[in-house]
Amino acid sequence: NADIAMYRAKNKGKDNYQFYASEMNTHTVERLAFEARLRKALERREFVVYYQPKIAVDSGMIVGAEALVRWNHPERGILYPNDFIMLAEEAGLIPRLGMLVLDIACRDVLNFRQTDPQFGRVAINLSGSQFNDMGLLEEVKSVVDFWRVPANALEFEITESMVMHNREQAIKLMDGFKDAGFTLSIDDFGTGYSSLAYLKRFPVDSVKVDRSFIKDIPDDPNDTAIVLAIVAMAHTLGLKVIAEGVDARMQLDTLLNFACDEYQGFYFSKAITAKDFQTLLQKQVSSGQPIAIDSI
Ligand code: C2E
Ligand code: MG
Ligand code: MG
Ligand code: MG
Repeated sequence: NADIAMYRAKNKGKDNYQFYASEMNTHTVERLAFEARLRKALERREFVVYYQPKIAVDSGMIVGAEALVRWNHPERGILYPNDFIMLAEEAGLIPRLGMLVLDIACRDVLNFRQTDPQFGRVAINLSGSQFNDMGLLEEVKSVVDFWRVPANALEFEITESMVMHNREQAIKLMDGFKDAGFTLSIDDFGTGYSSLAYLKRFPVDSVKVDRSFIKDIPDDPNDTAIVLAIVAMAHTLGLKVIAEGVDARMQLDTLLNFACDEYQGFYFSKAITAKDFQTLLQKQVSSGQPIAIDSI
């Protein structure tokens, strides 16, 4: 094992080596146990999908939602993606998890549209391991067709880094998604390398400005300038801009000034269950007005 060899070379001590090896074994054992548990969770469909509302900056109306997966662990309660997505990725389980999320989101979006005929779409996060597989689109289509969900009810979020690994193939796959009628957006925009140079080559509809740029606006002049520049540039390219992580009124006021299109964030609502989201939509439909934030 190369790691161990390197470690021995560096430390030249048998005790150290043994210590390291046993640490590693514990780690490996735990990890295998976790992987096995994750597999079982997939079979048992212990995953649930929460929805974070997407709000139009100008009107304040809910126009869509982002689907965010949670693991409803029978002993540990609700677990967040940070606790399991990376391990699922390493265990090769993301494609299955992704299809499960899509399946649930398809069922839910039909209900959302029934409650609110104006409802836009549900956005689903894709991982790099899904986007490396040219068969992804056919798999997605088969789930979507099964539920008879119109393609314009779904959006897919990809990140710049996913696309940069194998750029030409990724662009082909993106074209396929667009041809099928789906909406595409770039998630965590501004944190990757490619932002400006490649944006015009990607057949996407919108960019989601990463939360890290939104956090300190309008106090931080650099972040404020960056957000304004992203909005201006995206609009020039005909793309919509969504701000993520909006958690204060001042941020929202700034976004309104900058003519940003949509936002998501704790200021309006965190991700909630499908049932709660549907209740929000119902309220909006019956009042015909934006929902007062303090009523949530
Ligand atoms: P993301 O796609 O960038 O999702 C936004 C994350 O920011 C969500 O965390 C959301 O709850 C959180 N957030 C939203 N508004 C605010 C805010 O105002 N303040 C703060 N501090 N945070 C806010 P979550 O649900 O824990 O998801 C984390 C990441 O996990 C997501 O980042 C996404 O990359 C990944 N993920 C979630 N669901 C899925 C999925 O179904 N498939 C895949 N492949 N990845 C997923
Ligand atoms: Mg996302
Ligand atoms: Mg994001
Ligand atoms: Mg983010």
